[in-house]
Amino acid sequence: MKKTVVALLACVATACVAMLAGAQQEDQEPLDLEALLEQFGWDFEQGQITTQKVADDLHVLFGVGGNIAASIGADGVLIVDDMFPEMIPKVEAAIRALGGGSVDYVINTHWHFDHAEGNLALGPAGTEIVAHQNSAAMMAKTNILNLVITKYRQEAYPPDARPTISFDDRMRFYFNGDEIDVIHAGPAHTAGDAAVIFRKHNAVHLGDVFNNTGYPFIDADSGGGIDGMIAFCQTILDEVGMSGIVIPGHGEVTDGAALQRYIDMLTTVRDRVAERIAAGEDLATVTAAKPTADFDEAFGPETGSLGFVNRVYTSLMRDRAE
Ligand SMILES: [Zn+2]
Repeated sequence: MKKTVVALLACVATACVAMLAGAQQEDQEPLDLEALLEQFGWDFEQGQITTQKVADDLHVLFGVGGNIAASIGADGVLIVDDMFPEMIPKVEAAIRALGGGSVDYVINTHWHFDHAEGNLALGPAGTEIVAHQNSAAMMAKTNILNLVITKYRQEAYPPDARPTISFDDRMRFYFNGDEIDVIHAGPAHTAGDAAVIFRKHNAVHLGDVFNNTGYPFIDADSGGGIDGMIAFCQTILDEVGMSGIVIPGHGEVTDGAALQRYIDMLTTVRDRVAERIAAGEDLATVTAAKPTADFDEAFGPETGSLGFVNRVYTSLMRDRAE
């Protein structure tokens, strides 16, 4: 059982999702956080924070949930994403060990719980919370997150855990001697994604628009889509170039060249699925044709492609109908 749980842990992250690519689950009850944690084997007591130095004043924190980027310097502490409230004491300890104090700003790359739930601890403690306006709106209400293999009920955040600052297309922080650009390049993983570029180091945190653990999850039910994923990634790659430092929502820190390979994969799979849709094929037929087959070695496992293909198909069908 433990193995299943560990395998599933990667799932929300990578949306290795759907063994049940075409499965009907309209009547499935959404899980609450306790049930989801249980299913995914997330353990806040066991979970530790490890850190990676990108530059003297820029670090990546890995733990339970999405990766955190942390700018720590004379002006204070600005982080991108904040995992879960249970992890915040460990995050704060890691930041102290890196020479920082309390968190002045958190920028949420999007509203999903594994990237923004830490707001529940940071907001009441006085941290300014920043997110795209669509993510701010999502955090103000309860949402059913369709992860394909399961559904999750993300409860509305109380006012003090919601963004105090939101933006539309882009905004800039002048902080710790850096120019920190927060960019929304259209709907992608969700309808409210933000990428954060630290110009001094040409490093970007892409949230779940770029998942470096396998095939990505696309939250098509809340406005995400494959065309938007490709466009968003291309916009950011144009900004940072092949040598840019790329911090993914999950997985290891990498570079612009890896982002290019990811864009190539997304584009190829999108084109293959679109062609089959144009030929009138349904989801089960498209999935059975294995449109990701030659990518499974690099982005697999193959089971992880099922939820991905499901969301590619679903978002293309939606966008065709519009
Ligand atoms: Zn997400």
